[in-house]
Amino acid sequence: MKKIIIIGGGVTGLSAAYKVKRASEEGNDVSFVLIEKDDRLGGKIMSEMIADEWGDKDGAEFVVDGGPDSFITSKPTVFRIAKLLGFEDDTLPSDDSRKKTLILSRGKLFKMPDGVMMFAPTKFMPFVTTGLFSWPGKIRMGLDLLVPKKRIAAGVRNDETLESFIVRRMGRECLDRLAEPLVGGVHASDPKQMSLAATFPNLLDMEQKHGSMVLGFLAQRKKVDAMRKKYPQKPGAKPRTFFTSLTGGMQELTDNMADAAGRENITTGVSVESVKRDGDSYVVALSDGSTVIGDALIVATEAWAAEQLMRDVDVEIAEALSGIPASSSATVSFGFREDEVGIDLEAFGVLCPQKENCRLMAATYSSTKWPGRAPEGKILMRGFVGGPQNQAIMENSDEKLTEIALAELRGILGIKGEPLFSRIYRWRLGMPQYTMGHLDRMALIDRRIAATAGLALAGGSYTGVGIPNCIESGERAVSKVLGDWDIELAEDQIEEKSQH
Ligand SMILES: Cc1cc2nc3c(=O)[nH]c(=O)nc-3n(C[C@H](O)[C@H](O)[C@H](O)COP(=O)(O)OP(=O)(O)OC[C@H]3O[C@@H](n4cnc5c(N)ncnc54)[C@H](O)[C@@H]3O)c2cc1C
Repeated sequence: MKKIIIIGGGVTGLSAAYKVKRASEEGNDVSFVLIEKDDRLGGKIMSEMIADEWGDKDGAEFVVDGGPDSFITSKPTVFRIAKLLGFEDDTLPSDDSRKKTLILSRGKLFKMPDGVMMFAPTKFMPFVTTGLFSWPGKIRMGLDLLVPKKRIAAGVRNDETLESFIVRRMGRECLDRLAEPLVGGVHASDPKQMSLAATFPNLLDMEQKHGSMVLGFLAQRKKVDAMRKKYPQKPGAKPRTFFTSLTGGMQELTDNMADAAGRENITTGVSVESVKRDGDSYVVALSDGSTVIGDALIVATEAWAAEQLMRDVDVEIAEALSGIPASSSATVSFGFREDEVGIDLEAFGVLCPQKENCRLMAATYSSTKWPGRAPEGKILMRGFVGGPQNQAIMENSDEKLTEIALAELRGILGIKGEPLFSRIYRWRLGMPQYTMGHLDRMALIDRRIAATAGLALAGGSYTGVGIPNCIESGERAVSKVLGDWDIELAEDQIEEKSQH
């Protein structure tokens, strides 16, 4: 039997483990062992249930996500896994009847104008009447229709930073007041460093195809509207919202994957200290002094952790990994009594641009966005602090960071009342940054990995930070190492099975 060692028990490592399990159930003679340094599985995915000790309803609780709170609906991966594992009924659309995004600008809150798709307006009236942008700013954004598209020399990769792209096409005000906070909130990335080809390649393609962001997004909106008409929502079906969560919090996903993969093959609370090759085998030394020997190795840790582990295996891979930076951040969640907060709760969240000099990157009205996140009469809010442009704030103690987040929520949104509880979740070097050159680093890593039998790297540091990307990357890693042994997996059968 071939044994695959998987390092890292986040969603990527668990996806790999579950895929190996499926491969063995298909009759392949393969097994896995997974090693996770933390005492718990899930990595960045972490959900906590907090009993409502301030109410009188038995069993009522807050569902607090410390890391991701959702996944993008347009990618079917999580739905496929949920179907395979039988928890698809727990997929949770956002409550779009209450959808509204607020943006802080010059100290005031503005509603994101209707029709704005990513960074481009696609509806005339909401755009011209919004106070979010100045008149010169709006005119400059409109010039996107006239700015010629970038000419790409043959054989050269079309890439630039998000900042350069937005300033070139839509103007600096669009970057400062819309694009930067959107990206800061979602990717926790610095637009000055961020490679567009590695993060939003569709924007580069859109420019080449339509010559304008506004025209590109208008075409996209028409396509979406036409699809909605062609495939209307089936009666009784859940609405397809932009993001989807899980009723029990995102950890439901990783818990189910760990159960399905087989917890008997998973070790937690022990870290991998080093990896060496011995002939065709991989020898992994653990922090408890023991050694694990396997026929293949999947490293599903953060890139900075993988770098250390790869030093003795392939120094070129390690060098390339050292070029993938990461930033630290924290989420701070608060429970309140609804009748005490004194603000309009009909919004999904607020974005705080760097220009506003806030100590908060963004906040989510978790219980407005996701039904069932707070017991009746209570609300759940969460703030984000840190990110690549504000790393110094992470030096503060948990108490101080919580105090800062609360003060910001009060200052920005006007929240009153005392929190019933607070929870802080720190993610040290938790957000990989896809900076310029990322695709070149990845090309080198891919070449070296392809040439090394039994080795694969997977995770949010490489080909997409989103949960669906991570799951796919874990599955691809398994296909790669099994492929090295000429074992082909019945991908389509798995896909097909997932449809039923
Ligand atoms: C605050 C926050 C909010 C986010 N929000 C969203 C969102 O809403 N939607 C979305 O799609 N994505 C979101 N993301 C991104 C997404 O959560 C991550 O990209 C994804 O969870 C990463 O999974 P992973 O398994 O690749 O890595 P991780 O979850 O980081 O798992 C890697 C694991 O490897 C372990 N490890 C490291 N070194 C060793 C070692 N030497 N030995 C053993 N184990 C080791 C670590 O302890 C860790 O558990 C968010 C991320 C953060 C930080």
